[in-house]
Amino acid sequence: MTVPFPALLPTYNRTPLRFARGEGSWLIEENGTRYLDLTSGIAVNALGHAHPALIETLTEQAQALWHVSNLYQIPAQEKLAEALVAETFADTAFFTNSGTEAAELALKMVRKYWYEKGADRPTILSFEGAFHGRSTGAIAAAGSEKMTKGFGPLMPGFKLLPWGDHDALRAALDETVAAVMIEPIQGEGGIRPVPDQCLKGLRDLCDQTGALLVLDEVQCGMGRTGRLFAHEWAGITPDIMMVAKGIGGGFPLGAVLATAAAASAMTLGTHGSTYGGNPLGCAIGAKVLEIVTADGFLDEVNRKSAFLRQKLEGLVASHPDILEEVRGAGLLMGLKCRVTNTDLVRAAQEAHLLTVPAADNVIRLLPPLTISEDEIAEAVDRLDRAAKTLS
Ligand SMILES: *Cc1c(COP(=O)(O)O)cnc(C)c1O
Repeated sequence: MTVPFPALLPTYNRTPLRFARGEGSWLIEENGTRYLDLTSGIAVNALGHAHPALIETLTEQAQALWHVSNLYQIPAQEKLAEALVAETFADTAFFTNSGTEAAELALKMVRKYWYEKGADRPTILSFEGAFHGRSTGAIAAAGSEKMTKGFGPLMPGFKLLPWGDHDALRAALDETVAAVMIEPIQGEGGIRPVPDQCLKGLRDLCDQTGALLVLDEVQCGMGRTGRLFAHEWAGITPDIMMVAKGIGGGFPLGAVLATAAAASAMTLGTHGSTYGGNPLGCAIGAKVLEIVTADGFLDEVNRKSAFLRQKLEGLVASHPDILEEVRGAGLLMGLKCRVTNTDLVRAAQEAHLLTVPAADNVIRLLPPLTISEDEIAEAVDRLDRAAKTLS
C-alpha cells in the first residue's frame, strides 16, 4: 500500500497546537487552554491579537472595498505611502504582500539603478546568517546551504561575507559593488544586532564607493526595537529599505521604501503587483502606523523593553547551566542557550508560553508591542519554570 502524499505540502515541522482565537498577548486553543504568545506570528501581530482598532478598520474597509488592482488610483495606498514617507528617510514606497516580495523589488531596484547609470556593478554583498525570504533571489542573497541546496542554478551576483568581519567587508566593498543588503538585527540568524558604530561605518563605506545601502527591516522594523525603524538608533539612513511583518499587524502587507535617487530607475512598467497595495491591506497598514507613531507608544515599548531585559538578565544569572546571554533590542529579544534551543522552546510550551527558535542556538522572544508589564513578568516566570525542568 502506498502512503498518500499529505494534502498540505510537508515543508513545515508543525507544533501540534491548534489555536482557535487570539486576545492581545494570548492564543487560545479550541479547548480553552491559554498560551502567552511571545511569537506574535513571528513579529507580525505587532499590536497583539484582535486589536479592537484593527478589527474596526478591517470591518469598515471590508464593507466598502477590498480590491480593485493597480489599474486604478487607490486612496488608501496613497495615504499609507504619504504617512511612511513623512515618518522615514524615504521619498517613495511600493507595496507588496510579503517580505520576500519586498526583497525581490529591492534587488530589482538596485540592478536597474546601475543599469541606467551605465555602470558595470554586478555584485551585491550580503551576510552569513541573513534571512531575506524564500524566493530564488532571496535565498541566493542569504546563501545558506539549508535554504539553497537543490534549488540551483541560483541567481548570480551575490557575495556572502562573514558576519562581523570588518576587514572582509572593507576588502569586498569596492566600485564593483552595486549594493550591500543587511538586517540591522539578524532575526532568523539568532537576534544578532549590528552595533550602531558598524552601521555608521557601513554607511560611510557605501557613501565612499557609491554602493546602495539596502536595509532589511522586515523583522526589526515597525517599532519592534523601540524606534519606528531599527536603523534610527544608529543615526543613519539607508537608500532602500524592505518592510513587512509588523507593518500589517497580521494582514499580509509589505513595502519597499526608497530615496528618490535610489528609486529613479523604476519608471513606468518596470514593476507591478496584482494584490500589492490593495485597499484592505493599506487601510489596516495606515491604522497600525498611526497607533505605533502615536505620542508615547514607542516610549512605552522602550520602558517595557528595559523591564523585560532586566528580568531576562536575572533569568540568565539564575540558570547559568541553561542560558548564556540576552541579546537584542526593544521587544526583539533573544536568549542564547547552553542547552539545545528547541528543548527550551518545548519546555516553555509545556508552561504554556510560546517562543520561536532561531539560528545560533537562540530562542526569540517577540511579544506584541502592546504586551503589559504583568504579562512580561508572567512570561519570565514561565521561562524560569521551563528552565528548571531542564536543569
Ligand atoms: C520574514 C523575513 C523576510 C521574509 O518575509 P516573508 O513575509 O516571509 O516573505 C525577509 N527578511 C527578514 C529579515 C525576515 O525576517
